[in-house]
Amino acid sequence: MKKAIETLFQVFREHHKQLYIVGGAVRDMLLGQTPSDYDFTTDALPDEVESWFEHTIIVGKRFGTIGVIIDRKVYEITTFRREAGYGDGRHPDEVLFTGDVREDVRRRDFTINGLLMDEHGCIFDYVGGLKDLRKGMVRCIGNPGRRFEEDRLRKWRCIRLAAEKRMELDEETRSAIRDDPDTTGVSIERIREELTRIMLCEKVAWGGYLLIKTELLGDLLNRMVPDYWKRCEDYLIDGFEIMGYLPKKVPLRLASLLLNMFPEERKVFLREMRYSNKEKQLAYAYCHHVVADSQDIVGFKEALADIGMENAEDFLAFQDGLAYWDGDPSIKRAAEQNQRVYRRIIANREPMTLRELAVGGKDLTDRGYQGEAIKESLTRLLKRVYEYPEENKKDRLLSWLERETHGKTDLP
Ligand code: ATP
Ligand code: MG
Repeated sequence: MKKAIETLFQVFREHHKQLYIVGGAVRDMLLGQTPSDYDFTTDALPDEVESWFEHTIIVGKRFGTIGVIIDRKVYEITTFRREAGYGDGRHPDEVLFTGDVREDVRRRDFTINGLLMDEHGCIFDYVGGLKDLRKGMVRCIGNPGRRFEEDRLRKWRCIRLAAEKRMELDEETRSAIRDDPDTTGVSIERIREELTRIMLCEKVAWGGYLLIKTELLGDLLNRMVPDYWKRCEDYLIDGFEIMGYLPKKVPLRLASLLLNMFPEERKVFLREMRYSNKEKQLAYAYCHHVVADSQDIVGFKEALADIGMENAEDFLAFQDGLAYWDGDPSIKRAAEQNQRVYRRIIANREPMTLRELAVGGKDLTDRGYQGEAIKESLTRLLKRVYEYPEENKKDRLLSWLERETHGKTDLP
C-alpha cells in the first residue's frame, strides 16, 4: 500500500476511528487496475479529521468531506452519512452523519462502487458488489427507479461505468432508464463530462448502444435538436461504432456523432453542450468538409486551410474511418486520393495559406486595387495556386490576375 495511505490509516487508528477506502478505488484495485484517486470513509467528524492533519482543504464540509494533502496529493475523507430527500433530482436536501458504515454504502450509486477496504486489505461488501464485480455487472444499489429519481446524473454514470469497465448493465437498471430517461436538473457540464468519457473509452460502441437503447441520448438530443433523434436514431449506432476507428480526440469523435446533422442542428448542439470554442470549430469543420466522393484538389486544400494543417492528420483519419466503416469503393478511393494529395503538399511544401502566397496585399494596392477587391483577388490567387502550385511566383500571378480582371486573352 502507498506510504501516504499507510499514514492515513495510522492516524485514524491512533484516534480509535474507523477508516476505509471506498468506491472506485476498491473497485479498480479488485479489477487489477490502478485507481486514479482514493476516496475514504470514516466515522470521525469533519472537524476532527481537519484537526489531525497539517495540510487539509475543505472539499464540502456540509457534505462531510475533508481533503487531506499528503505529498501534494489530495485524499478525500468523508464522514459516514446518509441522505434525506432529493428535491431537485440531483442533490440531497440534507446530509445526516451516521456511525454505521452500512448506511454509508447504501446511499452510494452502484453495487461495484459500494465496496470497502480496510487497512489490512480486507474487503467488506454489504451490497453484493463482489458478485457483480465478478460477473461484470453494473447494478444500482436498491431500487433503480428510486435511485435515479434521487439523482438523475446516475443514469449517465452507470452507462459510462459499463462502457469504461467493459461491463454489462443490469436489466432492471437498464429498463428504469428507458422508462424515464429524463435528466432535467443535471447541469449540462456534468452530462458533457460523462458523454465525453463514453466517447473516448475503448468500448465506445457499447456505450453508444446503451445510450441509444435506453433513450438517454434521445432525451438529451430531443431537448436540443429533436429532429435529429427522430431522423437518425439508426445512424447513431454506426456513429458510435465509427468512433472506435478514430484517434481518441474529442472533436473527431464528436464529428462522428454529429455527421448526419444539418449544419444548423450541429451549431445548436455544440453551443448548448457548451463545448470549448476550439472543439466546436473543429468538430463542425470536420463534418462540413468531409465529402465522400470528391476528387477536387482545390476543395480538399480549402478544407485543409480551414481545418488547419496541424489537424490534417486527424481529418484524414476521419475520412479513413468513414471509408473503412462504409466499405463503399468510391469513398475509399476519395480517402486514398486525399491521402496522396496531402503527402504531396507536405513533401513539396505546397502553399496553403495567404501568408505563403507570393503576392501580398501591398502588391495589389501598388497596382491600384482597393478595399474588397484586394481580399477577393488574393482569394482567387490562392485558389489558382492550390491548383497549380508551381505558379506561386509574383510576376506570373500578377499577370494572370491582370488578364483575368481585364479580360485580356493574349496568353504568353
Ligand atoms: P472514477 O473516479 O473512475 O470516475 P469513481 O467510482 O471513483 O470512478 P467518483 O465520482 O470519484 O467515481 O465517486 C466516488 C464514489 O462516490 C463512487 O464510487 C460512489 O461510491 C460514490 N458516488 C459518486 N457519485 C455518486 C452519485 N451521484 N450517487 C451516489 N454515489 C455516488
Ligand atoms: Mg474516483
